[in-house]
Amino acid sequence: FPVVVFGDNFLSWFSVHCPVLEVLIMPSLRDEMEKKIMEILPPDAKFSRVDFEGPNVIIYVMNPRYLMEHSEYIKTLAKELKKYIIIRGDPKVRIREVDKLKKVITDMVTKSVGSNVIDDIVVDEPTGEVYIYLKRPVRERGKLEKDILAETGWKPWIIPTALEMGKDLPRSDIDIVKQIQLSTAKERLDFLKKLGMRIHREPIYRDARVTVTGLGAQMEVGRSAILVRTRESSILLDCGVKPSSSGDEAPLIDDLDLDNLDAVVITHAHMDHIGFVPYLFKYGYKGPVYMTEPTKYLMEVLLTDYIEQAESEGRVPPYSRQDLATALYHVITLDYADHPTDISPDTKLMLYDAGHEVGSAVVHLHIGNGLYNIIYTGDMKYGPTRLLNPAHNRFKRAELLIMESTYGGKEDVQPPRQESEQRLVELVRHAVEHEGKVLIPVFSTGRAQEVLLVLNEAINNKQLPKVPIYVDGMVLETLNVHLMFPDYLNRTLREMIYDGINPFLSEYVKPIERARDPEKRKEQIMEILQGPPAVILAPHGMLNGGPIMDYFVHAAEDERNMLIFVSYQAENTVGRRIQQGERKLTVRYYSDRVTLDIKMKVESIPGFSGHSDRRQLINYVRNMEPKPHKIMLVHGEPAKIMNLALTLELQLKIPTVFMSNGESIRLV
Ligand code: ZN
Repeated sequence: FPVVVFGDNFLSWFSVHCPVLEVLIMPSLRDEMEKKIMEILPPDAKFSRVDFEGPNVIIYVMNPRYLMEHSEYIKTLAKELKKYIIIRGDPKVRIREVDKLKKVITDMVTKSVGSNVIDDIVVDEPTGEVYIYLKRPVRERGKLEKDILAETGWKPWIIPTALEMGKDLPRSDIDIVKQIQLSTAKERLDFLKKLGMRIHREPIYRDARVTVTGLGAQMEVGRSAILVRTRESSILLDCGVKPSSSGDEAPLIDDLDLDNLDAVVITHAHMDHIGFVPYLFKYGYKGPVYMTEPTKYLMEVLLTDYIEQAESEGRVPPYSRQDLATALYHVITLDYADHPTDISPDTKLMLYDAGHEVGSAVVHLHIGNGLYNIIYTGDMKYGPTRLLNPAHNRFKRAELLIMESTYGGKEDVQPPRQESEQRLVELVRHAVEHEGKVLIPVFSTGRAQEVLLVLNEAINNKQLPKVPIYVDGMVLETLNVHLMFPDYLNRTLREMIYDGINPFLSEYVKPIERARDPEKRKEQIMEILQGPPAVILAPHGMLNGGPIMDYFVHAAEDERNMLIFVSYQAENTVGRRIQQGERKLTVRYYSDRVTLDIKMKVESIPGFSGHSDRRQLINYVRNMEPKPHKIMLVHGEPAKIMNLALTLELQLKIPTVFMSNGESIRLV
């Protein structure tokens, strides 16, 4: 087979665009793998064939029950093949009739966790998988999945929709994600098969080269986007927008070669990390987007809202609902786990808990069989919160740590959590006693849920009078995602949710269903603002639009009211300007501009942040195992980054670098 080398990227281009080469590569890899599988699996398992779907290796067997009862073989397979393995029953042994399949599954679920737990069963014929939607999360998920595969031959995925606990909560995200999954089943399988070939081919280049390019979030907070390139692959970490009062800014993605981009990896569902993902698809990206399962649902909620908000303000959104749907069907979800997932011929990916919001992840890229390891923290909290575990900092290997620096400045030492909670309760009590309304601008996830937990507890302990807590906007949808995935929360909350208790809602929490009609909406808002004292939680967290603005423009000029910031306010946002003392300002409100003379009290409680403070950032590195050889600081204001870099170099003796947007650093 004659190969003429035209340039550096020719072979990798060729392997991607020329099916002949795939045909040449694949049989040998498949044969080799089949041979290994047959050596490992005993004849009783009745191995039939192997396939590649995206990063996963699918092994079909005629006797799935045997493997479910002898799971040690699956572990050996994963270890020997160094791949993520999914076992499916061969089509010949699957229950053929859909009705019968559904009945068998229903009976098994009923026997195992009780009757009337199933919300829906969706059969995915092309793959041989079946999605079982349960009304509540169940501890027995793993065992139940094994038993169903053994009994039916279908590979089940149990998805708890938390319908039972979140009766009043909107759940359009679940329906939309399900709908996309159903309507794109065939295309998705096709996409996964092509991707499987692209990922599992042998690497072409043997020499090393690793480069990191900052496309956003360099010396700034917002529009996170970092490109990692080797000679084999090109991987984009995060793709967000930068919120500002003069319109959102995009990362520098115009020069990205979307045809040669192997993967996008998303750390978490905040707009400054995920907001521009559908834009990539609008301009021709056809590859995978990796993230955790909660992040997928949060992405749907957040980005739909982003499009709707732009429309309601008379702006053209940067991408359409269709682009978002396309992005969603290219999502591949991973758990927090030590087992590596192949995302390109020379790069493996692992995700770990980042402690920042439900489903947030620290990314570990393992490049070139141990040649180079990059840990990227995304946004992280190295400390326990009411919701989550602290960020993970134990890895097998780590050459480079790319770390956020939001609160890296000298002055950024947050008071202990308990003190902050006490302060919040005191402030709310003060405002309520003075007949005021308390406005708390929040991001849809994280702070909102924590504030709810704190206020509910304070009311129950009689530290606060029984005051209504109105919850508006996306906070409601995202509450549902917390209930769906208790395994992503800390132990206390996880156990409560598995026991059927919804820790976020109480009789005092009043979900606001947003009226579509603007007049009705205004009536709704005025009724609350003219009523008795109340707390109002609504996005967006930096007062850059969103439902909070409906309350803010009407409450700002009343001195009895109070505005409490519990999260980071980025430069150039309305929130930051108010926090810095501006009291007369003009804000965008739908398609108008409104000038406000702010008389309400303004308070900030930095201790609630989902970001690490300066001490936690330093301790994250100090306690990290193994110690990184180099640190790159991102996601911070310039002065904070420079100061933190100096401290890390002096205290921990680790070379620390930072870049401007558009700059690259060659690592190997
Ligand atoms: Zn974040």
